[in-house]
This record gives sequence, structure tokens and C-alpha cells, in this order.
Amino acid sequence: MKHYDLVIIGGGSAGLAAAVSAYDQGVEDILVLERDRELGGILQQCIHNGFGLHTFKEELSGPAYAERFIDLMHEKKIVYRLNAMVIHMNDAKIIEYVSPQDGYVQVKAGAIVLAMGCRERTRGAIAVPGYRPSGIWSAGTAQRYINMEGFMVGKRVFILGSGDIGLIMARRLVLEGAEVLGVAEIMPHSNGLPRNIQQCLNDFDIPLYLSHTITRIEGQHRVEGVQIAKVDDNFQPIPGTEIDFDVDTVLFSIGLIPENALTEEAEIEMDLKTRGPKVDESYQTSLPGVFACGNVLHVHDLVDFVSEEGEKAGVAAAKYIKEELEGGHAIETQANEGIGYIVPQFIHPNNVDKRIELMFRVKNQYRDVHLVIKKDGQEFRRLRKKTMQPAEMEKVILRRQDLEDINAAISLEIVEDVA
Ligand SMILES: Cc1cc2nc3c(=O)[nH]c(=O)nc-3n(C[C@H](O)[C@H](O)[C@H](O)COP(=O)(O)OP(=O)(O)OC[C@H]3O[C@@H](n4cnc5c(N)ncnc54)[C@H](O)[C@@H]3O)c2cc1C
Repeated sequence: MKHYDLVIIGGGSAGLAAAVSAYDQGVEDILVLERDRELGGILQQCIHNGFGLHTFKEELSGPAYAERFIDLMHEKKIVYRLNAMVIHMNDAKIIEYVSPQDGYVQVKAGAIVLAMGCRERTRGAIAVPGYRPSGIWSAGTAQRYINMEGFMVGKRVFILGSGDIGLIMARRLVLEGAEVLGVAEIMPHSNGLPRNIQQCLNDFDIPLYLSHTITRIEGQHRVEGVQIAKVDDNFQPIPGTEIDFDVDTVLFSIGLIPENALTEEAEIEMDLKTRGPKVDESYQTSLPGVFACGNVLHVHDLVDFVSEEGEKAGVAAAKYIKEELEGGHAIETQANEGIGYIVPQFIHPNNVDKRIELMFRVKNQYRDVHLVIKKDGQEFRRLRKKTMQPAEMEKVILRRQDLEDINAAISLEIVEDVA
């Protein structure tokens, strides 16, 4: 069985950044395994611009952003296999993959970076009533068909879910000549970035129906229509509020789920809130030598943060391989009132160089609140926040010395008492 110092599962933006940074730290014996026909991951189907504002201070398309990292892979001659689907991974760091070129292969890794991205929630997850005709798509699949395979998915379209993929697809479909009759969102607020609401819906006069859901899909062979209705506080449709649309296509953009079948199979400890593995400050999971970054860890809205995380995971994996990663006392990060989740879930202060970023999402939309940071239950810092919303990932930065006197936990919570 061939041995590699580092095996990276997934060649999207997280995996590529991890490979390049581990290489720069002196770990050159790397194998990147990617199941798709090219590197770059989801970026290859995102042909709109808006990528790389933080990393490259430029507005790039998804493929152009991916190309920067793919060029670095080639420059450094980092080994990768395409069409290589990892099917198993165990706690001895033995990875099994299959590919048309290589057949069935087992490799042993000194360290592993998990960078498998995420998948879309489907109609089945929310049990929409009605028939099951053709013309029903998850938004990301429709995006791949239109942008990469060259097929149009429909002419008159309705979209459920106002996350970024749904918003971007609304604009994309109009630019390709379709009519988008509306976007329905069950929450009273959109789950997409404000800039996408403006640029993808408002600029194209596409109506957004907040607090609405699809109550029926019509059509036995092909979609012939959808019915939407307003929902009450318990998200139940309110009789009498129904609106019918004559459409031939419905897109579902109702959330992303980190792709963790392999992680769970290796019995790595999971976080039920992020649906990704629990990690420490070095992005190391509960299985020593296995690291995670990008959308497999928690769903990101900006690729720049994915690349940053991949880079840090690559550096940490290289330290692990060189036996430079310390352990020692660990403190927990706790998501209290109003906070959906925090990554990382644990911190070993010994491994924090100068500062650490806690990435988190809030549960609701907030205006004029305080973000309160507590050390072992005692208030340590209070930050005033003008607005906070679940669609935008937030971060707080702690210095190494901030962590020194903590015994058990550091927590974040929202306090709505701002006068
Ligand atoms: C539709 C859409 C629009 C977006 N728009 C923007 C935007 O405008 N601006 C912005 O900054 N960000 C945007 N993002 C976010 C950003 O692009 C993503 O968060 C980021 O690219 C995710 O990178 P990743 O490497 O974690 O995952 P991915 O890119 O999904 O990469 C994961 C890779 O792992 C591979 N893989 C999975 N399982 C296996 C396996 N078992 N074996 C081998 N390979 C495997 C997959 O094939 C894939 O290539 C958008 C995202 C989407 C989905």
C-alpha cells in the first residue's frame, strides 16, 4: 500500500488551499483526491463574479478564482487524481478510492485533510405536497446543467428558498432567457447576502415572497404550476392566502449539508449544529492527524474564508506531520443565547500563536445588540453590534493572552438590552 505524508480528500477551494499551504511548510509528499473531472469544486459552476474580494482584492468569477490555486498546484507539482472517489476511510488513516484510471486503490496517510464540501437539501427533506413530475431541480444542480453542461432547465421558473444559490440562479435564468416568476422564503427574512438580494432580485424585478412556502406542485409528467401560501409563526400555511403560478420548472434552494459520510464512518466526533466534525484551533478533529476545512466543516458564504481556513488546516497538518503540534489543556467554545454555532469547538491555548478567530453564526436577525464574551461564565468583553443576521458569518478575534486564565470554557451570547 502506497504511503503519503498527507492525503487531501476533495479538490475544491478548501482542499487546494490546504495542499498549497502544507507544501509551502515543507510537506511535499501530498496526494489530492477529487471525484470530479477537474479541480476547483463548486467554484467551476459559479461563473458569476464576486469571488476573491478579500483574498486577491479583485472581483473574479468562480473558475478564475479556482484557476489561481490550480496554477499553484501545477507550479509546485503537487500530485492529484481526478475522477477519484474516496469510498472509505478508517481510524488507521487508510483511505480507499476508486477511479476509472486506477481502479480500486488503498493508500495510507500520515495525515488527512477532509475537504469534501457540502451537498444540497432536496425537496424530500421538506416534504412538499403534490406530484413528482420532471422540472424539479435543486438550484446547484440546475446551475451545473446551465453553466457547465450547456443545458437549459426551463422557461417559466419559480424558486423556493432565498439562500445565495437560489438568488444567483434567479438572475442566471433571466440572463439565459427564462422568466422567473418569484422566489418564496419561509422565514420572515432572506437567508442570502444583502448584495445578492439587490443584484439578483431587485435589479431584475423578481418578487421575493417572505414568510411564504410552496404548498403544491402541479403536473403529472412535467411541472405545470405551483401554489404558494403565506405561513404563520409556526410556519404553517394560512388558508386563503394561496397564490398560483403557471410555471414549468421549480428550483429548490433550501440549504446545504456538509458532506460527512466518510467522517462519520471513521467515528469522528460531530457537531449537531454545524453538521460537520468538531475541531480544535488547528482544525484537527477528534481523530488525531485528521483535519477538516471549508464547507465540510461548516457552510460558508464567502470563498475567501474557505481558502483561509484551508490554508490554516494545511499549515496545521504539516505541523502534525513534523511533530510540532502541541496538545495540552483544552478549553471549550460555547454557543449560548442567540448564537447558532461556533467553530472551532475547542482551543488548545498552547497552539495559538498570536491570535485566534472564532467563526460563528447568529440564530436570528438582530439590530443594536451586544455580543457578550464570557470566560468561565464571567463577562470578559462586550461588543456593540449594529446588525447581525444568520446569512452572514461573523467572527471575533481573541489574543493568546486572552485565553491564558480560562479553565473550562469561553462563551458567546447576544444581549438585546442596548438602550
Ligand atoms: C452556488 C454558489 C454560489 C456561490 N457564490 C459565491 C460568491 O459569489 N462569492 C463567494 O465568495 N463565495 C460564493 N460561494 C461560496 C464558495 O464558493 C464555497 O463556499 C466554496 O467554494 C466551497 O469550497 P469547498 O472546497 O469547501 O467545497 P467544494 O467546492 O464543494 O469542494 C469539495 C470537493 O470535494 C469533492 N469531493 C466530495 N466528496 C468526495 C469524495 N468522497 N471523494 C473525492 N472527492 C470528493 C467534490 O467533488 C468537490 O470538488 C458560492 C457557493 C455556491 C454553492
